[in-house]
Amino acid sequence: MTSHPFVQDVLERLRKVLPSGDQAHPLHAPHFAGNEWRYVKECLDTGWVSSVGAFVNRLEQDLAAYTGIKHAIAVVNGSAALHISLTLSGVEAGDEVLIPALTFVATANAVSYCGAIPHLVDSSETTLGLDPEKLDHYLRKKAVLKDRSCYNARTGRRIRAVVPMHTLGHPVDLEPLAEICAHYKLKMVEDAAESLGSFYKGRHTGSWGEIAAISLNGNKIITAGGGGALLTNDEKLARKAKHLTTTAKLPHRWNFVHDQTGFNYRLPNLNAALAVAQLERLPVMLASKRSLASAYEEAFRQAEGIRFFQEPSFAVSNYWLNALLLDESHAAHLEGVLEQTNQAGIMTRPLWTPLHQLPMLKRSPRMDLSTAESLARRVINLPSSAFLQEADGRGA
Ligand SMILES: *Cc1c(COP(=O)(O)O)cnc(C)c1O
Repeated sequence: MTSHPFVQDVLERLRKVLPSGDQAHPLHAPHFAGNEWRYVKECLDTGWVSSVGAFVNRLEQDLAAYTGIKHAIAVVNGSAALHISLTLSGVEAGDEVLIPALTFVATANAVSYCGAIPHLVDSSETTLGLDPEKLDHYLRKKAVLKDRSCYNARTGRRIRAVVPMHTLGHPVDLEPLAEICAHYKLKMVEDAAESLGSFYKGRHTGSWGEIAAISLNGNKIITAGGGGALLTNDEKLARKAKHLTTTAKLPHRWNFVHDQTGFNYRLPNLNAALAVAQLERLPVMLASKRSLASAYEEAFRQAEGIRFFQEPSFAVSNYWLNALLLDESHAAHLEGVLEQTNQAGIMTRPLWTPLHQLPMLKRSPRMDLSTAESLARRVINLPSSAFLQEADGRGA
């Protein structure tokens, strides 16, 4: 198959960064070069594989220490962490929750699990995440403040919270968003699923709202196999999060008494063991990912019609997934680039389908979503595994 010279040029630039040979380059592969075997074996040797065990506590302490956020509560996955974060922020059935239209579907699902309605917000071209300026203009026209709550003037429903999602690891501009939240009495719940290791103005993502969710899924920067965590500086919320995610059982040596409808969202010790070992390696992985990002940046510096997406100036990103951004004038080449790169064993992916284009969300309240729609037609995710460039793929 012959391809357009533009597509050919993109392929050649990628080949300069990726190691030669005929191995395939996955989008994001997990990397186990630390204590993973040892800690997992310890679980098997001691029999502590399930919902209680020392690694769960250790993971929670280590996450708190790394992020500088006081409390971490380990759970089965990022979706569960988001669900409970929203519940604890007071999101109730019939409320609306502002979320970006351009996010993984889990953000919207968590809102729906609460019986609430996702209200879709446009994205910013500098962060790929929720656009605070556009949100501010929108709320000025569409929201009313009544009894210290914010309401959607059109639907009459309360707007309870806003969920910034740090797309591909790049932090949303959180300071102006925090001001909007204060003015409109909105709770901020950060979907930090992709941004472990990303900092906004020197503070770890997930520390700007009341509560945040991270994911430790297999494709994220570090993994527990599957897993996630809630992060909060609020001790009361942390206690409630632990209670609600462990079937709301009251502590007792033998009696089973539960004081509300809880969830079995606790992370098994076996998964926590893997995550503890992975977290020890996070700084090394971050360094390796930054050097991969700068290699991509350099390879595309002189390219026409396309550029490498770089972290916003106010942030240090984890560069979880690297991305190319086509100019609007070259958006028609998206399919060609995806086709030719995947054909060549270079796994590339577009961003998600904007949420209002999915059947269960097509009637969601929303603002103009032109930037989200445009980005969805122009972003190409690149192979981004840590140590991708090293010959043995194992790293230091
Ligand atoms: C991965 C991800 C989640 C969900 O995490 P899981 O652990 O897969 O449930 C939520 N939001 C975003 C933006 C994600 O990328």
